[in-house]
Amino acid sequence: MSSALVQNYARIDIAFEQGEGSHLIAENGKRYLDFTCGIGVTSLGHSNARVTNTLKEQADKVWHVSNLYNIEPQAQLAERLTTTSFADRAFFCNSGGEAVEAALKMARIFHSSRGDKERYRVLTFANAFHGRTLATISAGGQAKHLEGFGPRVDGFDQVRLNDLDAVKAAIGPATAAILIEPVQGEGGVHVADAVFLKGLRALCDANEILLIYDEIQCGMGRTGKLWAYEWSDVAPDILTAAKALGNGFPIGAVLATEAVAETLVPGKHGTTFGGNPLATSVANAVLDEMLVPGFLTHVETIGAKLRKHLQKLIGNKQVFSEVRGIGLMIGLQCTVSNLDFMTALREEGLLSVVADGNVLRLLPPLIIDETEIDEACAALERACTTITP
Ligand SMILES: *Cc1c(COP(=O)(O)O)cnc(C)c1O
Repeated sequence: MSSALVQNYARIDIAFEQGEGSHLIAENGKRYLDFTCGIGVTSLGHSNARVTNTLKEQADKVWHVSNLYNIEPQAQLAERLTTTSFADRAFFCNSGGEAVEAALKMARIFHSSRGDKERYRVLTFANAFHGRTLATISAGGQAKHLEGFGPRVDGFDQVRLNDLDAVKAAIGPATAAILIEPVQGEGGVHVADAVFLKGLRALCDANEILLIYDEIQCGMGRTGKLWAYEWSDVAPDILTAAKALGNGFPIGAVLATEAVAETLVPGKHGTTFGGNPLATSVANAVLDEMLVPGFLTHVETIGAKLRKHLQKLIGNKQVFSEVRGIGLMIGLQCTVSNLDFMTALREEGLLSVVADGNVLRLLPPLIIDETEIDEACAALERACTTITP
């Protein structure tokens, strides 16, 4: 099957026919608890009524008009994302990679418009992931993503996460920005310390460097706050969002302060599809759900509960040695192969996803309830038992 497709994915041989809340149902009728969420995308679960109805209603009105005209749901979404964050302005695109590209362009033009044309370099961190475009694979710095795609886009310097001295040493006169995931996803669920982020902010302020948070995976409620940086109270100048913003409808966003945003005057950047009526209506519905009082506290408390269960499994089983993460963004440092563990879990009806450094990632829907946590823990127990040598 699928032989006409470019073979750039190592696909698991399952096709899903229906999604219902936290569950996915395969063609053969088998039910799975979905702790992958399309890689941190379907945070409200599958077939959310408000989101689905919004999509249907907007589909009957108008889908797409381009950014040559005013788009009411887009303006409304910008208003809401800025009032619920540090930002003054929002720009919309269609994916995470595009959001990071726009953020990088903003960083360059910010300095360039102030006469600092030689300031274009961006500091990033080991194990970072920022997308698969030419610039973002260079930003991520992963050899496996860069190999064969040279020459590398110039302008990125990489240092270790949570190592402020290394950052200090790497800052030079050409440094324009520091780009960081407050919680790394693909890189193996590594959390940036609050003290480290405070240190970065101070360094940025002292050297007129922009601080960019890539919250494409850790934002939109995943950690129990709308934005992961809220845990540290250290605001950035620019923030990228995508994954869960449309609950599966493609949309990306860049949030920025006025000082940064004002440099992107008409003609400087753009996109055909970005922020179209369908995408922004859906994202507004996603926000409607996430901003209901208690929604984010639920993520925090149920996440803590799940992580407590997982901690207990460390002692009893020899399958993983550490539980990392915040809220419902969880990484298990495996002692067996993470791929074997993922397969064993899937056989027990629980879907997960691997991350770099032999890590298994759990990204449950944020709407997960106590019964489903119990269902997941039972599957984890069984999988740990089958996999232990
Ligand atoms: C997924 C991801 C991206 C890339 O998003 P795409 O929509 O796949 O382009 C960038 N940064 C982070 C932190 C991500 O998790």
